[in-house]
Amino acid sequence: MEWKRFLSIPVFSVFLLMGFVYFITVFIFIEDWVGLQSSAGILNAMIFTFMASLCLFSFVVCVLTEPGYVPSPYVPDVEGAAVPLHQEPHSNSSQLRQCDKCCTYKPPRAHHCRICRRCVLRMDHHCLWINNCVGYWNYKAFVILVLYATIASIYSSVMIISCALQKNWNFSGRVPMKIFFAISGAMMLGLSITFGTLLGFHIYLISCNMTTIENYEGIRAAWLARKSGHSYRHPFNLSVYKNITSVSLSLSLSLCIYLFLPFQSHKLLSNVLLIRYWVQTY
Ligand SMILES: [Zn+2]
Ligand SMILES: [Zn+2]
Repeated sequence: MEWKRFLSIPVFSVFLLMGFVYFITVFIFIEDWVGLQSSAGILNAMIFTFMASLCLFSFVVCVLTEPGYVPSPYVPDVEGAAVPLHQEPHSNSSQLRQCDKCCTYKPPRAHHCRICRRCVLRMDHHCLWINNCVGYWNYKAFVILVLYATIASIYSSVMIISCALQKNWNFSGRVPMKIFFAISGAMMLGLSITFGTLLGFHIYLISCNMTTIENYEGIRAAWLARKSGHSYRHPFNLSVYKNITSVSLSLSLSLCIYLFLPFQSHKLLSNVLLIRYWVQTY
């Protein structure tokens, strides 16, 4: 847990943006559209508050969770590294790698982050907005954050558009209001498209069992392979179903836990699977 990560201008800006979007959506647009005293207003405000809370919770988890730093005395199992190559999906994955900056061995899929100055397990990227690396332990929280941010942005855009459509814009005295509606609408649509695109990209990465770094490395590797007349396949890509279940253990069982708990829920899921096994056996 690193509370110091909150002391950053981008993190502070995200809190401000969240507060601003929540305020204008609930207290300006929902209030103006149906009124916060009406049952429709209360329902919409409650749904949006729930989504905003999930967003805020995931964001805090993303900032505070260590991404999975490689322990400094890490020494690979040399015998394990000498496993016959045909058992590995890719020959490079079994080679020993060393980090010049940390002066330690680097496990497969770990990368050195220049900002954190540490090697990070299954590093995806360093995110400025959470002032933290996105790695093995907080990747799930990051994806859930992007998912909630997308849903909340689309919901807010719908509220703004619904509110704008029911208004009578004919008289000239409301020009500043028109500008406010246009700017808010454009901002929320822009955020919806940005988060939606990011979410789509990460769904694609999860389905291929790939990180953002591996995706860019893969593009180069595929180009080099094409040049030499070969084809390239991402070494950790098993199948779409296996890739997704490798993240969440059991897709049908863990969907709710996956969506509402931004933590790595392997231990919790193990217990749930144990209970299911116990119920089925007895
Ligand atoms: Zn390193
Ligand atoms: Zn980093």
